[in-house]
Amino acid sequence: MPPDLPLARILDGKALAALIRADLAKQVADLKSKHGITPGIGVLLVGEDPASQVYVRNKAKAAAEVGFYPREVKLPATASEDEVLAVVDEFNNEPAIHGFLVQLPLPTQVDPQRVIDSVEPSKDADGFHVVNTGLVAMGRGGVVPATPLGCMELIKLARKDIAGLEAVVIGRSNTVGKPTAQLLLRENCTVTVAHSRSKDLAAIVRRADIVVAAVGRAEMVRGSWIKPGAIVIDVGINRVADGRLVGDVAFAEAVKVAGAITPVPGGVGPMTIACLLQNTLMLCRRVHDLPA
Ligand code: NDP
Repeated sequence: MPPDLPLARILDGKALAALIRADLAKQVADLKSKHGITPGIGVLLVGEDPASQVYVRNKAKAAAEVGFYPREVKLPATASEDEVLAVVDEFNNEPAIHGFLVQLPLPTQVDPQRVIDSVEPSKDADGFHVVNTGLVAMGRGGVVPATPLGCMELIKLARKDIAGLEAVVIGRSNTVGKPTAQLLLRENCTVTVAHSRSKDLAAIVRRADIVVAAVGRAEMVRGSWIKPGAIVIDVGINRVADGRLVGDVAFAEAVKVAGAITPVPGGVGPMTIACLLQNTLMLCRRVHDLPA
């Protein structure tokens, strides 16, 4: 590759998330002064997974900074499914909590699906409940999961009108890959969803104007797979042997080919938190019958 190609525009998720949080802080102040309402967010952490501890801490901190009432509950890794469900029930019935999430993954003795199914859909800040998944898939509202929402905001930062573009989502999880594909379809992209059984992934990615990588494999997507000028959104968070965090895309290679690309860290991660807070504020407005 010639060394003097222009580098891609870096899609700065940290800066965009800060703008969103500043706007949220204004809205929250307004809600408090005009209606006496403080949006409340609940976060349940089960166990001591180091990455989950960091995510939960960051979410609670960001929530407090925009003026939310954050309520963090921690259970030990040995907690039974019933104990987890009891906290979910408490959040479901607590009027001061407008939205909440259960940090995944859960310890093996707890069935994550049972837990997600027990979340009241109108308080489902993560948008993982099947009612919200169905509504989003049908384009009938619902709560859009925060990471896909953040991905779309970053794509829109690179290009406003994406109708007709070829989009490839790598990964088909219910939490990231599938809802991101739905949102891209809603924006009239031609969407391909690739996964571990896809054949010749490099060729599939090469036709993409938009690539969203949500796999969990360090630097799997090489620069040579990227179509020149493509928008590349890297959802992956992988810790490598030397302790660094890297994405699913080989950034140093891809930045020389892509038109726009998100860094890791500082791309999708901060946007996920900002969008989670946005979702919670939306749920708070809904329950109080206030316009969005
Ligand atoms: P999952 O493990 O649930 O899904 C991974 C997906 O990648 C699966 O669909 C799997 O395919 C696919 N896959 C695995 N190996 C390959 C391969 N060799 N080629 C193509 N596809 C493959 O992960 P998540 O969706 O939950 O998360 C993905 C990544 O995003 C992780 O690194 C996670 O840490 C990160 N993440 C980051 C967030 C953020 O805020 N930045 C938020 C959420 C997640 P199959 O279905 O066939 O098994």
